[in-house]
Amino acid sequence: MILFDTHAHFNVDTPTKEQMARAVEAGFVGILAVGGSSEMNSCAIALAKEFPEFVAISLGLDRDLALEYAASTTAIPELKEQILSVGKQVRVAAVGEIGLDYREDTTAEEKAAQCDLFSKQLSLAADLKLPVSIHCRGAASDVLSLVAEYGSKELMSENRLGVIHCFTEDLDFATKAYDMGLYFGISGIVTFRNADLLRATVSKLPMERLLVETDSPYLAPVPMRGKPCEPAFARYTAACVAGLHGMSEDAFGELTTNNARKLFAL
Ligand SMILES: [Zn+2]
Repeated sequence: MILFDTHAHFNVDTPTKEQMARAVEAGFVGILAVGGSSEMNSCAIALAKEFPEFVAISLGLDRDLALEYAASTTAIPELKEQILSVGKQVRVAAVGEIGLDYREDTTAEEKAAQCDLFSKQLSLAADLKLPVSIHCRGAASDVLSLVAEYGSKELMSENRLGVIHCFTEDLDFATKAYDMGLYFGISGIVTFRNADLLRATVSKLPMERLLVETDSPYLAPVPMRGKPCEPAFARYTAACVAGLHGMSEDAFGELTTNNARKLFAL
């Protein structure tokens, strides 16, 4: 079986050598190491330098930094410069993660700052012709409208605008996202005991847009819950989604690996 983890995070304490070895042993042929802060971006770059054949990366500024960067005029040009210079040494395959996360206590000011940072990075990705890795929580309609406005029209027409990572939305959202050329990153949440609704939705998603991901070190799938998540664990998620689609694990692994290669041009 071959597999591809399209969304894993690493920090300075991650035992990456051991994790990469276990991922290879579990059948993984690659991973996308995803940034979001300067620390995670640096760790992704370092990992790709160490494992250039195995690791591609995504660089970006996630919504937690929105207020901090609200007034910055240099953050986006610096990110662009970093992507261009790092891209000469390793495979930068996406911008992300970026997106919106609205919780009960998220203020109007913070929502506006998140939208601003998200829009600017959608435009940056369009400028660089890179797909995006999008986080969406409690903000479905704003995510869709900003993607429609600022997302790359060229990549939309090629059906490879990016991925809704850690997909937990409904079919109505999925239909609109599909039409804009977005993929669906399915994380360990789909294996959780209380995730019947998500499983029902995922079983109806078009197979040519499915990806599997860990979002490591978070969201370890059943039966690894409670442990720090790592890329190799995506095989449990893959087995679950293969079952939902009535496919063999081998065929599903091959399908989603090809989907990942197509979206990220790897
Ligand atoms: Zn993430």
